[in-house]
Amino acid sequence: MKIENYVRDIQGFPKEGILFKDITPLLNDPDARKKCLSILVESLKGQKIDKVVGAESRGFFFGMLLAQELNAGFVPVRKPKKLPYDTISASYELEYGTDTLEMHKDAIQKGDRVLIHDDVLATGGTAKAVCDLVTELGGEIVQCNFLMELSFLNGREKLKDNPIFAAITY
Ligand code: 5GP
Repeated sequence: MKIENYVRDIQGFPKEGILFKDITPLLNDPDARKKCLSILVESLKGQKIDKVVGAESRGFFFGMLLAQELNAGFVPVRKPKKLPYDTISASYELEYGTDTLEMHKDAIQKGDRVLIHDDVLATGGTAKAVCDLVTELGGEIVQCNFLMELSFLNGREKLKDNPIFAAITY
C-alpha cells in the first residue's frame, strides 16, 4: 500500500493559485494511518522521546498517535489566545505580515528529548517557530517530522540545525 494514494490534491484551496494537499483520506483509512505511523516511528530508529509537540491543527492528528506509540507526552502548539494557562510565544514571517504560535510555559522541561510533528513542511516558518518555542524551554530537538515535505519550497533551509524526516516528499 502506498500512503501517497491517500493524499488528495485540491486545486485553488484555500485561495486561487494554491494546490492544497488534503490528508483527510489518510485520516479516514485505518490501514493507511497505521502504515504512515509506522514509517514515522521507524525513522526514529528507537531513539527515546519524552515529548511530542504538534502544531495546530493538523499536527495534532499524527502528533497524538506518535505520542501514544512512543509512550511520550503530547504538547499542543496553538494560535494565540487558545491555550488557557501561561504561555510563551514565537512569531514567524508570512508572505504578508507575521503569525504567532503559543505553547504552555510548563509543557517541556529542560533536557526533554522532543519530537516536533506537523502534517506539512512548506516554507518552514511554522516548524521553525515551533523549534524556537521548544528551544526556549530547554528542550532537545531529536527530529522534526512531517507527513509531507513540499521540497520545492525549501523549508529545510529554515530548520538546518535539526534532523528532518518526511514520510512523503513532493
Ligand atoms: P509553512 O509554515 O511550512 O509554510 O507551512 C506549513 C503549515 O501550513 C503547516 O502547519 C500545514 O498544516 C499548512 N500547510 C501548508 N500547505 C499545506 C498543504 O498543501 N496541505 C496541508 N494539509 N497543510 C498545508
